[in-house]
Amino acid sequence: MDRQQEYVLRAIEERDIRFIRLWFTDVLGVLKSVAIAPAELEGAFAEGIGFDGSSIEGLARVYEADMLAKPDPSTFQVLPWRGDQHGVARMFCDILTPDGEPARSDPRNVLKRSLARAADAGFTFYTHPEIEFYLLEPQLDPLAPLVPVDRAGYFDHVARGTTHDFRRAAIGVLESMGISVEYSHHEAGPGQNEIDLRYADSLSTADNIMTFRTVVKEVALQQGYHATFMPKPSIDWPGSGMHTHLSLFEGDSNAFYDPAGQYQLSSTGRSFIAGLLRHAAEITAVTNQHVNSYKRLWGGGEAPSYVSWGHNNRSALVRVPMHKPDKGQSVRVEYRALDSAANPYLAYAVLLAAGLKGIEEGYELPEEAEDNVWGLSDSERRALGIPALPGSLQHALEIMESSELVAETLGEDVFEFFVRNKHQEWTEYRSQVTPFERARLLPGI
Ligand code: GLN
Ligand code: MG
Ligand code: MG
Ligand code: MG
Repeated sequence: MDRQQEYVLRAIEERDIRFIRLWFTDVLGVLKSVAIAPAELEGAFAEGIGFDGSSIEGLARVYEADMLAKPDPSTFQVLPWRGDQHGVARMFCDILTPDGEPARSDPRNVLKRSLARAADAGFTFYTHPEIEFYLLEPQLDPLAPLVPVDRAGYFDHVARGTTHDFRRAAIGVLESMGISVEYSHHEAGPGQNEIDLRYADSLSTADNIMTFRTVVKEVALQQGYHATFMPKPSIDWPGSGMHTHLSLFEGDSNAFYDPAGQYQLSSTGRSFIAGLLRHAAEITAVTNQHVNSYKRLWGGGEAPSYVSWGHNNRSALVRVPMHKPDKGQSVRVEYRALDSAANPYLAYAVLLAAGLKGIEEGYELPEEAEDNVWGLSDSERRALGIPALPGSLQHALEIMESSELVAETLGEDVFEFFVRNKHQEWTEYRSQVTPFERARLLPGI
């Protein structure tokens, strides 16, 4: 047993932990959990805990169903909302096949493989997500009209504000679990919030996003609300994005920093952005995985619809934000298509792969977009070489299916499952008769 594992065993005894939840994520980004008794933990560290992988979306085929969940002791945290007595703790797990090999279908493993490729090139990958979500009055019927908890807007400071209290409580829980929060504020939509997590290596960030979603939902329930990460809950409100700031480090130094470069961006940083742009359409099915995601991308509300980059241009897909005067450590690029319902492991894996490809192949960065790209006409955008992101899940899947980059990054099992599952979602959606069609056609045709 290693020192981290010993630390966990000691903490469990000292803190009266009675249940240890083993957490992992299915291919669609849903958190899974199995609780074990403290007595089982040594065995779990040594060999993992067996479960039926075929019952988990995308993890295993029925004829090779047995899987093992092996907890990662560095992710041990007590769940504060379960109380101090007879406490509950959790660890994220790596999923193994019965012969102890990492399961290629485990999203955490997909990200680890992408990180290993970055490490071969000398890079570590850091991410900082801005997570947006809505707080609504709870309703059992998902088709009932949505009632947001307030009518406030961007950065509003509301006296006795519901969402202030909510964010304070949620951030308190996150911080007590070792997840640091950098900024939080009311977002533009009624009842919409944003909470930004501090920079961390991307595997920790992805784990933290999974924890974040659970914490936000728990705290909302405690306060009598419903929290949703749905990308576009209403045509009348802006969607919920998960802009993520990305950077590569070589040892202690930021590989995107060059004091002489435009916006102090190094040529590595420029090629990384070029990779994101060139492969943006291919990776969109992963960063925006639901039928509903495309309602956000094409529904206005500051979501990107076109592939361009810029400095202080919020209509761009990739933005190079202003950074702190800190010797370039905070030079980074912001990718703005991602939404709050993405599987963070898979999304970060494909973003990293796209950026690395740009570096490996030395892609040239096109001119930045200085205009508001939403305001240009199609022919102006064509003249400027600004393509569109896919318009629907179907379109995104078609592009992804012929992407070597995505197939290689996700691995065959995840790639095939994902495409099949998402085509199914599209097929079911396509046959729907929507209120839009009725309202448009029924009265007059
Ligand atoms: N909600 C917007 C989106 O969907 C972002 C708004 C913002 O952060 N300025 O991407
Ligand atoms: Mg923000
Ligand atoms: Mg925002
Ligand atoms: Mg942002």
